[in-house]
Order: sequence, then structure tokens, then C-alpha cells
Amino acid sequence: MKRIMTCIECPQGCRLEIETDGSRVAGVTGQKCPRGAKYARQEIESPMRTLTTSVLTRGLELKMLPVRTSRPIPKGSIFEAMEAVKRIVVTSPVKAGAVVAPNFLGLGADLVACRSIAKL
Ligand code: SF4
Repeated sequence: MKRIMTCIECPQGCRLEIETDGSRVAGVTGQKCPRGAKYARQEIESPMRTLTTSVLTRGLELKMLPVRTSRPIPKGSIFEAMEAVKRIVVTSPVKAGAVVAPNFLGLGADLVACRSIAKL
């Protein structure tokens, strides 16, 4: 089966033609550098995404604290991660970059604060 994808690793935006064998990549053409094939393989065989969202707070200056994962997590875990995020409530002031949930869901990525937040 053939799939078409745009490489987003750099502004060139190469149009990749990917030959797949089930869920595996059999071949890639159209890339101007080796990163294109690597990107296609990652996207098709084990896509990853950085989760960017917000968690609830209590007793702090804002009702929501923006957070993100410290590194991409498997795309297939995003729904479970969003459900887990709904259960988090931050009650103490944090600095930007502070870890809100270490090794979030055991995925090897921390959930970190995207901004500082103080008490009310
Ligand atoms: S294949 Fe290489 S040159 Fe083309 S968009 Fe990807 S990174 Fe850029």
C-alpha cells in the first residue's frame, strides 16, 4: 500500500511516498535527506506526540496551569493521558519547568509546568 506524507522535519516540506507492508515501512522516496525516511518510519510504525494541555489548580492565581510532556509520548497513549490529566489538581505554587507529574503514566516523560503560578 502506498501512502503520501509531508515531512515536517524542516521547512523544505518534502512530499514523501511511502510503501507500506501492513504497519511496517517497506520503502520511502521523495526525501531530500535521510531525515525524511526516519520521519516516515517513526510516523507510521510508532508515532509520537508532545502532549500540551492544562491541569486544574486550587488556591492559586489561575484556575488552570498549562502543562506539556517533557518529551513526546506514543500517540496511542494520548487519550489515556488526557483522562489522567483531568484527575490532576495543583495546589502549590510552581515555577515554569517544574515537574507536575514525574514519569507520567510510566511513559518515560514528565508532565511539566509551562509557566509559573503563585498563590492567590
Ligand atoms: S526530507 Fe530532509 S530536506 Fe526534506 S523536509 Fe524532511 S528534513 Fe527537510
